[in-house]
Amino acid sequence: MARSSEVFHFKILIIGESSVGKSSLMTRFVDDTFQPTFFPTIGVDFKVRTLVIDDHQCKVQIWDTAGQERFRVITTSYYRDAAGVLIVYDVTNGESFSRIRRWIDEINKYCDDNMAKVLVGNKDDSPSSDGNHIQKVVLTSDAQQYARQMKLTFFETSAKDNKNVYEAFYAITRLALYQRLETRA
Ligand code: GDP
Ligand code: MG
Repeated sequence: MARSSEVFHFKILIIGESSVGKSSLMTRFVDDTFQPTFFPTIGVDFKVRTLVIDDHQCKVQIWDTAGQERFRVITTSYYRDAAGVLIVYDVTNGESFSRIRRWIDEINKYCDDNMAKVLVGNKDDSPSSDGNHIQKVVLTSDAQQYARQMKLTFFETSAKDNKNVYEAFYAITRLALYQRLETRA
């Protein structure tokens, strides 16, 4: 139970190349389900989940790109008033990792430099989960080193296995919360 009656509202973005699993992460976090077939997001703007963090009630509005990343045009309204961003790549797709830098540059163009950012390597499934396991090509150590260099909190997740999904959303919300509390003090 949250001690304070104040409700904090946060707009959190999910960014990254097409098909890295952004929509799946959001669905897993908000509905706790996984949709195994490819399902380009059309028209879905955001979903909401409430988290209690250190006694603060946080209402998190999670914005998906609605598939716009495909055309490399994400509108300014998408970035407006965002409190944090999950920057997602696919651990089985090296190109999605090498493009992280471009996404960070774009974010920095529209948002405050110190906006909360978390790096997420998705599709880090358990090798034993089924016969269709795809080879991991982005090494954990390389991503960790990059995250350290860029001062990003880092998680490897699997929307499929429900690994670290809650943890990643919790971490970005917590960063956003403390940034807000600091700017008030
Ligand atoms: P988006 O384009 O970034 O929103 O990606 P989607 O969420 O639509 O996912 C693209 C494809 O990757 C879909 O076929 C998903 O089922 C699959 N996918 C998403 N997350 C995972 C995961 O953690 N593991 C595996 N193996 N596949 C995933
Ligand atoms: Mg999507």
